[in-house]
Amino acid sequence: MATGKIGVTTENIFPVIKKFLYSDHEIFLRELVSNAIDATQKLKTLSAFGEYKGDLGKMEVRVSIDKEAGTLTVSDHGIGMDAEDIEKYINQIAFSGAEEFLEKYKDTANSIIGHFGLGFYSAFMVSKKVVIRSLSYKEGAKAVEWSCDGSPEFEMHEIEKDHRGTDIILFIDDDNKEFLEQARIDALLKKYCRFLPVPVISGKEQEWKDGHMVDTDKDKVVNATEPLWTRKPSELTDKDYLEFYHELRPGEEDPMFWIHLNVDYPFNLTGILYFPKIKNNIDIRQNRIDLYCNQVFVTDQVEGVVPEFMMLMQGVIDSPDIPLNVSRSYLQADQQVKKISGYISKKVAEKLDKMFREDRKEFEQKWNDIEVFIKYGMLTDEKFYEQAKKFFLLRDVNDNYYTLEEYRKLVEPTQTDREDNAIYLYTNDKSAQFAYVKGAEDKGYNVLEMDGQLDQHLIHFLESKLEKTRFVRVDSETSERLIQKNDNKDTDLSAIDAEILTGLFRTQLPDLKDTNFLVEYEALGADDAPATITQNEMMRRMKEMAAMQPGMNFYGAMPSMYALVVNTENAAVKKILSEGKTALESELMPVRNEIDSLNEEITGLRKQIDEKKEESEKETLRAESAEKEKKVEEDRKREESLIKDYASTQPVIRQIIDLALLQNGMLKGEDLSRFIRRSASML
Ligand code: ADP
Repeated sequence: MATGKIGVTTENIFPVIKKFLYSDHEIFLRELVSNAIDATQKLKTLSAFGEYKGDLGKMEVRVSIDKEAGTLTVSDHGIGMDAEDIEKYINQIAFSGAEEFLEKYKDTANSIIGHFGLGFYSAFMVSKKVVIRSLSYKEGAKAVEWSCDGSPEFEMHEIEKDHRGTDIILFIDDDNKEFLEQARIDALLKKYCRFLPVPVISGKEQEWKDGHMVDTDKDKVVNATEPLWTRKPSELTDKDYLEFYHELRPGEEDPMFWIHLNVDYPFNLTGILYFPKIKNNIDIRQNRIDLYCNQVFVTDQVEGVVPEFMMLMQGVIDSPDIPLNVSRSYLQADQQVKKISGYISKKVAEKLDKMFREDRKEFEQKWNDIEVFIKYGMLTDEKFYEQAKKFFLLRDVNDNYYTLEEYRKLVEPTQTDREDNAIYLYTNDKSAQFAYVKGAEDKGYNVLEMDGQLDQHLIHFLESKLEKTRFVRVDSETSERLIQKNDNKDTDLSAIDAEILTGLFRTQLPDLKDTNFLVEYEALGADDAPATITQNEMMRRMKEMAAMQPGMNFYGAMPSMYALVVNTENAAVKKILSEGKTALESELMPVRNEIDSLNEEITGLRKQIDEKKEESEKETLRAESAEKEKKVEEDRKREESLIKDYASTQPVIRQIIDLALLQNGMLKGEDLSRFIRRSASML
């Protein structure tokens, strides 16, 4: 019998372990089962190398509860420990046996889990006393029992033990009685151990008997020892992958496709990532990818390990090369982790590229379900974009798909403006913007449909990536002006006509909340609508961006600016103008003339002011000029009110405005019902 002190630097390590080492007490089970698996794998390795010649026997790990004794025991038939080993591996906490072993058997010992650090001691998080009973595989080894009640003192003596291997017996403390419940243990084993490489047994299989479930005498194996990701892709069928998916994520729809990851250089990583159907709303649900380390579940919080956009995928990643017991921020900065993340992203891009090249039709059919993912990836991962630009697709309103390169070729001849920009026209609401789409198509333009949640961002992004490319929404200009070319028709309206025409329409515009209108005119076709409402692309984008980003209230609070573009070629408009001119001429003329002569006088006065040296003289002239300016202002108001009075006797003007509003979905409520009444009476 021996007693002694555990080789730790501070007396207080146990309370530290208990409270702070792991916030999650439950992981003690993962640690102990992992150690048992390690010990088992080590013996298999030794046997394979001929260093252990005995019979391996049954190599399973057993987790058993003894409620009466208040113990939870983890037993294995692995390598075992003799007194010396315990002294070395257990008593000297800082010394990790797994590391030494790995060093020796570097190439074959991949399946050794032990890099959880203070693994074994996590048992003290839930126990008032821990006992180890172990018989080493070494010839002539003596079985030993070690026990420790949570103080740095331990006690060790020889015992009788028939079976090779180790039992770790936890005397569960009063605060943690839950770990004596089979259901709780089952749940934990399912969480952490369901894919461990050695059979883990806990409790008995149950069966239905006399109205309730009862234990049979068959041992219950909790894990699948060869999960799919550890197997060769060439041996697996689609059915295998689907079955595995449903095992991982019961109740989910079939995934669209999957990627089997498998690298061993420059890091080790295996796994399967499934691509679920992603509807238009990006729901980045957390916990969709489980991270394993040699088949031991570590976490489902994989931020930092996989690229952000991959969080839309589901599945498992298994890598012994991801540092596990470190903080998340450290993880994100870790070079190895960065490499892993980059690798996964590359693999996913390669898979998509392959699908695209092998069956473009099918790829297009899947596009709706994968576009969010691809767009998200392009927006957040530069390297992914570099690969994705080959298979990223633009879809037009007629459901044709184009790669970026194809689309450029398609629109360059017809949609290049006078500054040599290729203009990509798009709609974000095909039915609401139907007339605009049609207008653009009638001019021989192609219109893209960009109605996804990420499309606003994507448009900005593509404009920054693609050379000389601008996106313009179909309703931001009249079709004539969507693409500014040199041959755009000008109107030959005189200044006076223009003033009367715009005045007639301006004075009849409705007062809409948070909305300002500018009246413009343009010579569109004779068959084109008399008036159209457009919203400047830049202004609209500012508002949209402001709405998405807090802190840009300035733009958000601005009223929406629209243009009412009056078509001077349209017969109804022509009639309004000519009739208006006739009706208004006699009254407007004198006012106009007065304005003209006042303006002339003002110009003269300004010149004089510049020439005068004396400040007092300047002052007098300035006052005179201001007086005249005021008069001009009054005349303008008079002019406006003359126009307004006349315009209000012409219901057709308001009718034309309402039609334009209606086409843009902006005619509502009282204005709408008035429009309907007016239309009826016009009939
Ligand atoms: P780690 O597993 O990170 O090395 P642990 O504290 O969990 O740290 O274990 C320390 C060492 O104790 C192990 O490396 C191993 O050598 C030994 N050990 C623990 N559990 C067992 C076991 N069930 N069978 C044999 N050796 C074990």
